[in-house]
Amino acid sequence: MASPVFRLYDTMSRQVEEVTPLEPDHLRMYTCGPTVYNVAHIGNFHTFLTSDLIVRTAQALGWRVSHVSNITDVGHLTESDVSDGSEDRMAKGLHSKEGSAFANVWDLADHYASLYKEDSRRLNLLEPMVRPRATQHIREQILAAEKLVKNGHAYETPTGVYFSVKSFKGYGKLSGNKDQESLKRAVRNVVTDDNKRHPADFALWKKDDKHLMQWYSPFGWGFPGWHLECTVMAQTYLGETIDLHAGGEDLVFPHHECEIAQSECLTGKPFCNHWVHTRFLQVEGEKMSKSEGNFYSVRDLVDEMGADPLAVRYALIAGVYGKPMNFTLQGLRDAAGNIERFQQCDAWAVKALAKGPFGPDELGPTLDGLYEECLVAMCDDLNTAVALAKALEGTRAILREGEAMSKASAASARAFLDKTNGLLGIVRPESPGCTPKAPGVDEGRILALIEERGEAKKGRDFARADAIRSQLESEGIELRDGPEGTTWRRRV
Ligand SMILES: [Zn+2]
Repeated sequence: MASPVFRLYDTMSRQVEEVTPLEPDHLRMYTCGPTVYNVAHIGNFHTFLTSDLIVRTAQALGWRVSHVSNITDVGHLTESDVSDGSEDRMAKGLHSKEGSAFANVWDLADHYASLYKEDSRRLNLLEPMVRPRATQHIREQILAAEKLVKNGHAYETPTGVYFSVKSFKGYGKLSGNKDQESLKRAVRNVVTDDNKRHPADFALWKKDDKHLMQWYSPFGWGFPGWHLECTVMAQTYLGETIDLHAGGEDLVFPHHECEIAQSECLTGKPFCNHWVHTRFLQVEGEKMSKSEGNFYSVRDLVDEMGADPLAVRYALIAGVYGKPMNFTLQGLRDAAGNIERFQQCDAWAVKALAKGPFGPDELGPTLDGLYEECLVAMCDDLNTAVALAKALEGTRAILREGEAMSKASAASARAFLDKTNGLLGIVRPESPGCTPKAPGVDEGRILALIEERGEAKKGRDFARADAIRSQLESEGIELRDGPEGTTWRRRV
């Protein structure tokens, strides 16, 4: 079968379009990463997973992917920061309760960057080619600001350097905020400066010799504007025109609009050929918020509630990225059941490959067909709902074939699971550290109780055996009896 055509919705053209890398079969893509002032939440990871699925789909088509995803470790003001004491996010992180454990804002950034990387690995997110940090690219940002001033696209005021949106005809082409009125509505007055020529002009450099993170520049001590980091990091690692840029829908305006303006005024070339944005995530039908008690990080779900990280991944990709997604704990439980099916199939296939009988391959053609359908669905604007359904259909075929499948069938099952894992990342953990930890659980005691229950059953003391099961149930520990004995897991 010929490779399917990879199509994705493009925010700029507002339609689903074929992804056509400038260099055939080599996708150069950039994803806006997190600001590392606290723990990233599942809404952030929902967005990062879209990029991961784009990378996996492209690789499944045989493409090479150069993926750059940054870490924002310079603080920037946001709307809520301004209404809340005018401290930027990094400073706020340092002055929070958790932040008091850190000597300075640099240590705080290091800490949360490492937690973010750990959570990424637990969710089977493929490592990007490079994960640059904004603070490692201050020099390039200063040079870019200087160049934009020189070529008439930016100007200096007593408080900073601003990009002049009127100097760039294309400003607003991504978000549609082109006319004066919509620009005025869309611009959140994060930086108020009477010297700005237009309210939508945005900062390339803020002069501030009191800021926690500051650098010396020809404009004086200060720090770069947020949008500039992605422009210079994308260009440094991927070239002047990139194939694809991804991020959350909240970044369309102003962040990505500003990236386009800066980049195209720096090079005179198109910045990016394809824009992909992930719609927002709700939890239990509500906006995720700490005060509502529906705010989850990966570590809340995995470390506190004992969820399998792969189930978290499954639940977060179960809805298509282009529609608002509703994450629920019931969805997570269902996902855990599905992950177990994949792992059950994998265990049976490994066993049958080693010890199974010789015989015909009963699974190959069915599973090959299902994998193709899975890949076709992913190429169809990342239709994860269909892709996961096809992958599950594969597990049903394997489970029907049974534990005693032939070696040839087992080889086909294994190949299917390998390819499915490559495409969707839901069969087995790909990096160390993916095993769910369950703090507060005394594993020794559980194992002792399981043994006692086994003995009770042998002695036909079913009342005692049931009592042990109920006791563990009440503690949230679920027992599973299988041919290999009894296993346990923590229920979400
Ligand atoms: Zn960015």
